[in-house]
Amino acid sequence: MVTILDQILKKQNRFISIRWKLVSTYLLLVIIALIIINLFISQTILNIYLDQEKLDSLTSANTISNRIKYYLTPISSEMIEIDGYLKGIVESYSKEIESRIIIVNNNNIVKGDSNGRFIGEVFKHDEIQKALKGDVNSSIYKLKQFGNVMYVAVPIKMGDDIIGATLVSTSLNDIYTMVDEINKKLVVISLTSILIIAFLSFVFAGFLAKPIDKFISTIKKISHGNLEEKVTIETNDEFKKMADIFNTMVTKLNQVDTQRKDFVANVSHELRTPLSSIKLLSESLVHQEEGNIEIYKEFLKDINDEVDRLNNIISDLLTLVDMDKKKLHLDYKTTYINYLLERIVHQIKPLAEEKSIDLNLKTNEQIQINIDSDKIKQAIINIIHNGIKYTKEGGYVNVSLYSKDNFAIIEIEDNGIGIDKDSLAHIFDRFYRVDKARSRNTGGTGLGLSITHQIVSLHQGTIEVESEPEKGTTFYIKLPTDVGVV
Ligand code: ADP
Repeated sequence: MVTILDQILKKQNRFISIRWKLVSTYLLLVIIALIIINLFISQTILNIYLDQEKLDSLTSANTISNRIKYYLTPISSEMIEIDGYLKGIVESYSKEIESRIIIVNNNNIVKGDSNGRFIGEVFKHDEIQKALKGDVNSSIYKLKQFGNVMYVAVPIKMGDDIIGATLVSTSLNDIYTMVDEINKKLVVISLTSILIIAFLSFVFAGFLAKPIDKFISTIKKISHGNLEEKVTIETNDEFKKMADIFNTMVTKLNQVDTQRKDFVANVSHELRTPLSSIKLLSESLVHQEEGNIEIYKEFLKDINDEVDRLNNIISDLLTLVDMDKKKLHLDYKTTYINYLLERIVHQIKPLAEEKSIDLNLKTNEQIQINIDSDKIKQAIINIIHNGIKYTKEGGYVNVSLYSKDNFAIIEIEDNGIGIDKDSLAHIFDRFYRVDKARSRNTGGTGLGLSITHQIVSLHQGTIEVESEPEKGTTFYIKLPTDVGVV
C-alpha cells in the first residue's frame, strides 16, 4: 500500500537532502574564510617586502646623497673633473644596489644619472619636486615598459640648505613575482583543504543527518499502521529530546488506538449478549408447539428486559459519544446543590427501601454552584444507584455535602461489598465491571461511572474513590464553586 508519506518521500530530490545542504553550507563558509585568509596573507607578505624595499632604497638614497653632496656645487674651473667623479660614484653605486640613481641640483638640472640619459636636462619629476622642498617620499608605479617600479626621493642637504635631490628607482618585479608564486602555493593548499573538508563534511553531515533518516524510516513504518515502532537515538542532543517526545506521542496514539479497538470489541460484545438472548427466547417461542400463555408472557417479559438493556447500553453510549465529541452542551445555571441532593434522594428512596437500604442525606450547608443540574443529577444518581446495587439488604448509603477550599464536596458512602485494590484503578473505564455477572443481573452496563467521570470533568471537577472489600465504598465528587463562571 502506497501511503501519502511514501509519495512525499518519492518526490524528494536527493540533492536537496539535509546532508547536501550541510555539506554545501560548510563548503561555502570554508571557501569564504579561505579567500579572506589568502588575501590577507598575500597582502601582508607584499607589504612586508615593499616596506623593506622602501627602507633599503631610502638608506641607499641617503648614502649616495652624503657621498656626492660636495660635488654638486663645484666652482666652474673644477666642473669637468668633478662631473666625472660624480658620474663614476653614481654608476658604481647604482650597480651595487641594482637600482637607477638620478641626482638633480636645486635648479632641477640632472647632475648624475646612472643611465647617463638625462645628464644636463631639466628633470621635474613629482618625487624630486617634493624632495627639493625637504620631503622624504616614495611612490610605486606600474610602468608599461618596466613593470612595477618604486621611486624613492630624498633631499641633499648642506647644513640647513637643500642643494639638490636624489631619486632612487628600483624594479619591484622580483617581489611581485615572488608574491605571485606564494599566491599560487596558497591556492593549491586551499583547493586541497577544500577537497579534504568536502570529504570530511560529507562524512560528518552523514552523522548529523542519521537521526533524521531514523525518524523518516520510523514514521514510514508508523504510517503503515505499525504503532509499536520507536525511534532510538543515542546522541545526547535535541534529536534525542525529539525522539523522546515523538516516542511518547506514538505510545499515546497506540494507547488511543488500543482503547478504540477495545471499545469497539466491548460494544459489539455487550450488544451481542442481549441480542443472543432475544434470539434464543424468540426461537423458543417460535418452536413452542402448544400455546401456553404463561410461558409466552414470561418469555416476552425476558425479551422486553433484554430490549431495555439494549436501550440502556445504546443511550449510555450515545451520551459518551456526545461527550467525547465535546458536543454535549452544558446548560449552566446557579443551583443550590443541597436542594438538588434532597430531590435526588427523595426520588431514589423507594428503590433503596425496596432493598431495605437506609438512604440518608446530611447537608449542613447551603451551597450554590453554577452547574448543569440535569447532568450533575445524572452523575450523582449513577453513584447512589451503584451504592444501592452493590450493598446487601439492611445496609446503608449516606450522602453528605460540605465545602472545602473553594470546592463543594458530595460524599456518597455505602457499607456494601467494596472494591478490591486492583479493580479500583479501572472502575471509571468503559465497560469495566468487577463482577460481570452481578452487574448484568442488576442491569448494569459498565458505562455508568465512565459517564459520571466525564460529566464531573466537564464541570472542571474531580471524582475520587476509597474502598475496602466487604467494608464499603466512598465516592467524593468535588466541584469547584466557581465552575462555569466566565
Ligand atoms: P455498572 O453499570 O456495572 O454498575 P459502573 O460503571 O457504574 O457500571 O460501575 C463499574 C463497576 O464498579 C461496577 O460494575 C462495580 O463492579 C463497581 N462499583 C461501582 N460502584 C460500586 C460500589 N458502590 N460498590 C462496589 N462496587 C462498585
